[in-house]
Order: sequence, then C-alpha cells, then structure tokens
Amino acid sequence: MNDIIVAKFGGSSLADANQFQKVKKIVLGDERRRYIVPSAPGKRHDKDYKITDLFYLCHAHVQQGISFDEVFKIIEERYKQIASELNVTLDIGVYLREVKRKIAEGATADYTASRGEYLNGLILADFLGVEFIDASEAILFSRYGYLDSEGTKKAIKDKLKNVKKAVIPGFYGAMPNGEIKTFSRGGSDITGSLIARDMEASLYENWTDVSGFLMADPRIVDNPKPIEKISYKELRELAYMGATVLHEEAIFPAREGGIPINIKNTNAPRDRGTIIVKDNGDKDLGNITGIAGRKDFTVIAIEKAFMNAEIGFGRKVLSVLETYGVSFENMPSGIDTISIVVEDSQIEGKLDKVIEEIKRQCNPDAIQIIPNMALIATVGRGMARTVGTSQKIFTSLAKNNVNVRMIDQGSSEMNIIIGVEAKDFEKAINAIYHAFA
Ligand code: ADP
Ligand code: ASP
Ligand code: MG
Repeated sequence: MNDIIVAKFGGSSLADANQFQKVKKIVLGDERRRYIVPSAPGKRHDKDYKITDLFYLCHAHVQQGISFDEVFKIIEERYKQIASELNVTLDIGVYLREVKRKIAEGATADYTASRGEYLNGLILADFLGVEFIDASEAILFSRYGYLDSEGTKKAIKDKLKNVKKAVIPGFYGAMPNGEIKTFSRGGSDITGSLIARDMEASLYENWTDVSGFLMADPRIVDNPKPIEKISYKELRELAYMGATVLHEEAIFPAREGGIPINIKNTNAPRDRGTIIVKDNGDKDLGNITGIAGRKDFTVIAIEKAFMNAEIGFGRKVLSVLETYGVSFENMPSGIDTISIVVEDSQIEGKLDKVIEEIKRQCNPDAIQIIPNMALIATVGRGMARTVGTSQKIFTSLAKNNVNVRMIDQGSSEMNIIIGVEAKDFEKAINAIYHAFA
C-alpha cells in the first residue's frame, strides 16, 4: 500500500467558484491527496440544474432536431462564471465551442454527458496547478461497453506512475475504438474507487454534501444520526436499496484492494464522516446500522397447497420470468406460498403475459398481484447476534399503523427486508428509525 489518498468530489462540492475554493483548501491540506476525481457541477440550491442533466437534454434536443442553443447557454454560463471567478489561465470558451460543435454533429449521449466532468476537470486542474489526465486514457471499457478491469488497472498505473498530482475526471472512460462510454448515473464514485485500487492508495476519500453516511435518508428522516463505521457489505445493501450517497458499484474496487473509504463533507471538512471497512468482527454491535428503501415494486404472490413438496415448482416460476427477460429482487417463500418481488420497470407491459404463463405452467391455487409496493431494508452486521431486532421493527410499524405486506430476512442475517404500500414508505422508515436511534 502507498501513502496516497484518492479524493473524489461530488457535484455539489464543485457547483460554483466558492465550492472550488473549499476543494482547493482540502486538497492542499494533506500532501497525500494526489489524485483528484471531480464530478460535473451539481446544484447550487434546490431549484438549480445539474450540468449532467442539461447535457443529456442537449443530446435529446439534437435527436429530435430541435435547437439546443438555449440549454447549452446555461451550461456555458456556469463554466464561464466558475472559470472567471477563479481566474484560471485556460480559455474554457475554446473547449466549450468544441464540445458544442460535436454535440451539434450528433455525438452520442455518453460523449455528451461525459463533457460535464471533462470540462470541470480541466478547470479544476488549472485551478489546483496540477496535471489533467483525460479519463478516456485511464478508464477502459470493452467494445461491448463493460468495464475492462484489467486494462484499466494497467492504464491507470501507466498514466499515473510518474505523476505527482493529477485531476482525472470521473464518470467516463473509452472503448477500444476511442468512443466515450460512461458509467451509470452517479458513476464518478466508481472512477475514484478504481484509481484508489490501481494506485494501491491507503485511503479513498469521497467528498460530498453530507457528513457521512447517515442512518437514514435525510430527505425522509429529520436529522438522522451519522454512521461512524460501516462494513463494505452493509454499505452495499444500503446503497443498493436506495441510499445513493455512494454508487453501489463503487464499493467493489476499493474492497478488492482492501482500501478503506471515507465519506466526508466538503462543507464541514472537520467532521469525521463515515469510514467503510472490512467487517472486523466488532463485538459491541447491538444496534442496527442503517435503513434504506426504494419504491416502485410489484409483488406476485403465488399460493399452492403442498408447494414445498412439489419438486421444481420454484424453477418453473423462475423460468417463466427468464423467458420474459424479467429479473427479480427478492423471493420470500413459505410452505404453500411464494412471493416474487419485481421492479415495476422490469415487468411493465409484460405482467399479464407473465401471470398467464405462470398459471399455465405451475397451476397455482391462487395468484395475487400487489402493485405500488415499496421495499425497506434494515441493515446491521450485529443483527445476527442480537435477539429481538425484528420484533422491534414490527412493533414500531404496528404502532404507526403500517401494514407489512411482505417480509424477507436476507440469508446473510445482516438485513431484514419488508414490503409496505408506497403510501406508507416515509412513515415506515421514520418508525423503524425512531425505534433504534
Ligand atoms: P455527490 O453529488 O457528492 O455524489 P450525491 O447526491 O450522489 O452526492 O449523494 C449525497 C446525497 O445522498 C445526500 O445529499 C443525501 O440527500 C442523499 N442520501 C440518501 N440516503 C442517504 C443516507 N443514508 N445518508 C446520507 N445521505 C443520503
Ligand atoms: N455527473 C454524473 C451524474 O450526474 C456522475 C456523478 O455525479 O457521479 O450522474
Ligand atoms: Mg453521487
């Protein structure tokens, strides 16, 4: 391991010149912060635009043959304002013109969206006085659009080994033919994690607008407690279930390299934030770690007497889903029942056909569709060793009149997932939070 810190700064941390100043202070505050990964400028306030959203909008306009001048103007003004207030030496106008020309010529959505971090990276490198390394030379994708993990490792080592300090924009890389490819939304977190892994950094700092991972989404629960320490596994569960602080795929490279991740607040850099590490078998974990949830699920509940004795029943049900290309989230089962939880976007337009086919192939006694479901995961590595966690969850939900439609205890004994009606989502999260916090 090297005495290197990779620091990724999210959109709100780089939303305007004032935020850039904070970032500079942080970067200069520790010599070890050598590789800096910026996102595109995010919102400065609630009603503001995210630059990435505007770039996608430009692309959509071109696709429909509508002028994107007006949208581009907002982008242009934001970058020009940042560059001029920071007195950078590079002429961002030149780069903006080139980007605009390429978008007008019909550049791909990925290329267009990636320019958010590219332009921000150029300004940040200039402002910090360090080298700019284009992510298209460091983050490599296969020609099918998947991350080329080994190729990326080589490219990063090769590009950065003799570079003392550099800015590498997040979110995108390139395919073998040079075409730009992005990760999914929020993907700058992945870029930072890959660089940390490949440079064998001792720490991956992820700077955002909250003082770490909180026990619940602050937009749902008032002032949730911060989580001081969390394992990669727990974080993966929470991130997957909707706690979007860190992109769920960003965990893997850091974990592979055994590199701790520290979520920090650019606006309160002294706060300790959350540290994400390997489960080190802490003994004193009585409580839960966090709660997260997502809406927009449908449950298909199937009932058949002696289902448990019928060999191949589950396989038949799943093969129907496979035939229709539907993936599922959870599949809790009882003696005579099995429930399949699917994301609405997976089953849209296919539900009737899937039900018909399950009826035909599996001959169930009853089949019920429960729409508008939300899933809530209560996560904690101490759960397996603590008695009464689930009772606490269900008592608090009952007290708050939340009807639990489905229960699934993950096989890791690290999470309990419940299904509630979407209208009860916020109420349920608050109820569980207050039962433990
Ligand atoms: P960035 O632009 O820095 O990548 P994101 O918007 O992706 O930041 O992630 C930070 C946001 O995640 C917070 O502002 C908060 O609204 C939201 N969030 C959701 N769940 C949680 C949670 N459990 N803890 C902290 N923040 C959360
Ligand atoms: N700017 C990109 C997005 O808005 C990537 C990121 O912020 O991590 O999704
Ligand atoms: Mg993010």
